[in-house]
Amino acid sequence: MPGGVNSPARAFGAVGGEPVFIDRGEGPFLYDVDGNRYIDYVLSWGPMILGHAHPEVVAAIVQVVRKGTSFGAPTVGENLLAERIISAIPSVEKIRLVNSGTEATMSAIRLARAYTGRELIAKFSGNYHGHVDSLLVAAGSSAATHGVPSSPGVPSGTVQHTLVLRYNDVDGLQTTFETWGREIAAVIVEPIAGNMGCVWGSEEFHTKLRELTSQYGALLIYDEVMTGFRVAWSGAQELLGIKPDLTTLGKIIGGGLPVGAYGGRQEIMDHVLPEGKVFQAGTLSGNPVATVAGWTTLRLLEASKPYPQLKESTEFLAQGLQRVAQEAGIVCQVNWAPGMLTIFFSRDRVNDWDTASRCDTRAFARFFWGMLRRGVYLPCSQFEAMFLSVLHTRELLEQTIAAAKEVFTEIAKEGFS
Ligand SMILES: *Cc1c(COP(=O)(O)O)cnc(C)c1O
Repeated sequence: MPGGVNSPARAFGAVGGEPVFIDRGEGPFLYDVDGNRYIDYVLSWGPMILGHAHPEVVAAIVQVVRKGTSFGAPTVGENLLAERIISAIPSVEKIRLVNSGTEATMSAIRLARAYTGRELIAKFSGNYHGHVDSLLVAAGSSAATHGVPSSPGVPSGTVQHTLVLRYNDVDGLQTTFETWGREIAAVIVEPIAGNMGCVWGSEEFHTKLRELTSQYGALLIYDEVMTGFRVAWSGAQELLGIKPDLTTLGKIIGGGLPVGAYGGRQEIMDHVLPEGKVFQAGTLSGNPVATVAGWTTLRLLEASKPYPQLKESTEFLAQGLQRVAQEAGIVCQVNWAPGMLTIFFSRDRVNDWDTASRCDTRAFARFFWGMLRRGVYLPCSQFEAMFLSVLHTRELLEQTIAAAKEVFTEIAKEGFS
């Protein structure tokens, strides 16, 4: 396998050294093949909000798997998952299940282009929407640039229809719409970004984005693959009080198995085949094993309503980390949203990709290894968010903060900022 992995972030490229090989997970813990235990703040990069191997989720999977793993024909299970998502997110009136977040965003922009009859898509630098060719553009810090591909193999022709804007730049939005507004099919955005580390879109930014897209007849796509069912039951759109036209989902809705989804206003979703003409298909889409894992996860979340507690835990961890950093003389910025958090090794507030990319990634790497040696498994990049599960107890958070205090002190002694 290239780099020994099946997804590049796992290779520890950004922090150097050999990745940990995982044997199993249990609740908030990971165990590696050598038997070491870690408090897990990666949680499979977001999905495992209930912790690993939740007994009810496992039991549901086992029960369903005995009846067969995929039929390529309609099942009740996929309808249950679809219904639960629709009942949770008011802007989602109709939904299509797919197999990953990437498939969801790819399909949503195809639908937006077909629906509007326009070709331009606007995205924000530092926002990640999966490895869709036309969205693999993050370069360009000027207010609006025609995209330059950020991977070899993406034809320039593909990204010439992608505009890259600056996150949280309200004036940039205005200018972009005044110039291109009538050609823009959709703007896709992480409403609370997690893929440059955790960064909130400001209220002003989100209000302007909703206004301009409506005014110019462009669709607003909230990519809630990460934030859906994480920051709140109805996702970031609940916290922001804004209704997008389309929403993309993944991660938590699969309960640790491969599921994605895109949905939104019925009148738009009716353009998808076989009701409409926009082609999108999947051999394993809506398969019973993945959908029961997701459905059971959502059922447990709906019943336990963990969001206020998750918010409290995240705030406790954020404040604790900020405090011990300060005590050790380390300057950093802790950004958080309920259930997700990033420590930016930066003097300046981080509110877009420009400010994020100026972080001291060497200090982050020291921090990462120091924490790993103390049994805390963090995302192996400055530009990824940490995630909390409902099983990250006060005691585990306190252990994490105590470990961070030691590591910050070490880093401060070695003379990093
Ligand atoms: C993870 C993620 C994706 C991609 O999902 P995959 O299942 O990895 O394809 C897309 N958008 C956002 C916001 C994500 O966090």
